[in-house]
Amino acid sequence: MKMEIYTIPDNLKEEIDEYEKMINEFENGKIDKQKLRAYRVPMGVYEQRTDDTYMVRIRIPGGNISVSQFDNLINIGKKYLSPYLHITTREEIQLHNIQLRDTVKIMKDLLEINLSTRGGGGNTVRNIIGSWDSGINKNEIFDITPYVVALTERMIKEKDSWNLPRKFKIAFSNGPDDSGLATVNDLGFIAKINENGQRGFKVFIGGGMGANYNIGIKLFDFVPDKEVYNITKAAKILFDKYGNRKNKHKARLRFVLYNLGEEEFIKRFLLEYEEVKKQNYPELKLKKLDILYKNYIEIPIFLGDLSFDNAKKIISIAKKFGEFSLRLTPRQNILIKNIPDSEMENVKKELKENGLLEDGVYFLKNAISCAGASTCRLGICLSKNLLKAIKNKFDGKNLKLSTKLNNIKINISGCPNSCGQHHLADIGFFGKAKKVNGFYAPYYYVVAGANINENKSKFAEKLGELPAKNVPDFLEEFLLFVDKNKKTDESFYSFYTNKGKERIIGLINKYNEIPYFEENKFYYYDWGEEKQFSVLEKIEGECSAGLFDLIDYDFKMAEENIKSKDYKKAIAFTSHALLITKGIETKTDIESVVLFKTNFIGKHIDKKYEDILNRFISNESNFLEDEVLDFFKNVKNLYSQMDNSLHFPEIKQDDIKKENTKKYEILIKDFRGVPCPLNFVKVKLELEKMQKGEKLKIYLDDGEPIENVPASLKAEGHKILETLKNNNFWEVLIEKGV
Ligand code: SF4
Repeated sequence: MKMEIYTIPDNLKEEIDEYEKMINEFENGKIDKQKLRAYRVPMGVYEQRTDDTYMVRIRIPGGNISVSQFDNLINIGKKYLSPYLHITTREEIQLHNIQLRDTVKIMKDLLEINLSTRGGGGNTVRNIIGSWDSGINKNEIFDITPYVVALTERMIKEKDSWNLPRKFKIAFSNGPDDSGLATVNDLGFIAKINENGQRGFKVFIGGGMGANYNIGIKLFDFVPDKEVYNITKAAKILFDKYGNRKNKHKARLRFVLYNLGEEEFIKRFLLEYEEVKKQNYPELKLKKLDILYKNYIEIPIFLGDLSFDNAKKIISIAKKFGEFSLRLTPRQNILIKNIPDSEMENVKKELKENGLLEDGVYFLKNAISCAGASTCRLGICLSKNLLKAIKNKFDGKNLKLSTKLNNIKINISGCPNSCGQHHLADIGFFGKAKKVNGFYAPYYYVVAGANINENKSKFAEKLGELPAKNVPDFLEEFLLFVDKNKKTDESFYSFYTNKGKERIIGLINKYNEIPYFEENKFYYYDWGEEKQFSVLEKIEGECSAGLFDLIDYDFKMAEENIKSKDYKKAIAFTSHALLITKGIETKTDIESVVLFKTNFIGKHIDKKYEDILNRFISNESNFLEDEVLDFFKNVKNLYSQMDNSLHFPEIKQDDIKKENTKKYEILIKDFRGVPCPLNFVKVKLELEKMQKGEKLKIYLDDGEPIENVPASLKAEGHKILETLKNNNFWEVLIEKGV
């Protein structure tokens, strides 16, 4: 069929019917939201931030969509009132603001034009991506598009593609510069011709972006192209067998790699691969999407949001160059390709006349942003609005910038999840919340200096943080510096290592502070937002990553404060960490500690920790590292037991005592204020409850107690491992002897 890029599997219609049945049951109150979600998300339908509106994500392998499909898709988008077609960084199309019932109708309409949303989300094989310039780059090793399409066809047919431990992302690159990002996907293939002239791939596995990013390891230096399917199948089986299904934050394939270690991981992969090869699966059927000319024009689509009017204009131009003249790119733009030399100038002229192409410098052509907190339920900051603010800043100034900035990659994500690919940025940002004197403000981490290629990919490094409201000023100053100092033929990466990094750090120092809320509220409102910035509204999501990041941040700060011996701060951060799960936002440390005590102690956490919190509340300052660490570890341990509904187990007090004694081995007892010889008797009683070799730490007063008790214990056959002075008292570590 003319319209088809990839073949839709026969069973898709039944799956859509099943999905429709689930929606009926949900609407009739027979199943709950949670259950529907389990069907909805793998079908590429996500709930947006505004209740009862949905985003539908459509698979477009390698961004390749036929002109007729695109034309029809415009009509579908309009019919169901999506505000535009949104192009994603994974070369897909999203429709936004869709009603739940309409998501089924959309799937049925898409079926008519051989497009599918299956695997648009959830723990599935996601849209397979490829180099944006494949088939049109005169220097490429070979065109990888046929492999992207053929592997998509095979993957979407297979049942085991839909219930993996987590999402599984595959990418193809057409050459060593890895423009398809093969080294940073779960599984990646880079085109290669071996010394015998045979076509094949270098293969990488275990890469990925997001909060726990990783550059993939090299699995094969060369495999013949006929092995693409077998390798993918083996990787899927390996992931299915060893992936962590219990903890979604540690579920991606790279965690299997971390857990097993590289050698064991490869060994197990090879075992699966040998088994797969024995099955003699048919080879992929490669189809060529024929084009005659390598000329193309890239049409920048700001934020990837393409209005229906502009989409129609693009279609009317692209039609002249054949059914396969369109491609969506990971920079959220559109290519019109297959343009004969003689037509290039005419097409440019027509695009300019239609307002689709600009003359001269347009450095924002390569700027990308994820959906951010405006629609994404995981988002922390309004990343799209930030990019708009940056654009407004530059549009309004009419700065004279040179074409040196045309290819700069500015990437923005609304949270650490990296849908805006901030790890791959020349200069990038990802959203966070920062508490300043009791009030949350939208902030961004600044990252820079990515360098991706098949030999030694390097992600952008984190250099500091900036308030959201200062990012445009910061960027203006930095880009003017780049424009002035970068040589025309110098790569951004080389400029970055020579001069750029130092300048960025200097500018972060200039722009990173904000006035207190009482002095200037401007900084406490995100770009384009009328409501004061708050973290509470951001806690519910399809996987709540925004929430987890905030908790992780508190634990990280607690750990850092333990290291720097600021035990009061460590207690405050530890207490604050889990309050958000109960919808509690606090302004002061003492408030965090009091509310943690009320909500957690005696319910989810052993009552013995009441003492440390009471001492904090009474403004004491004599805290010991071991007791703070013990408290911290217990709270963190509780967090690891939190379920998907943000509930914690209620543990019996006796169990906790035994568990803590076992886990931390060192029991701590405070005998300060207990006179001699009563303190010695009490220590003896404690030791009697213990096994030989177990350790007990005691606190003793200065003077008589420290002079007498350790010596008496030694005489009784116990070992004194350590005696430490701590302000006006002593810590003594004892190992039980007899
Ligand atoms: S990076 Fe975060 S905010 Fe942006 S789309 Fe992904 S999950 Fe949402």
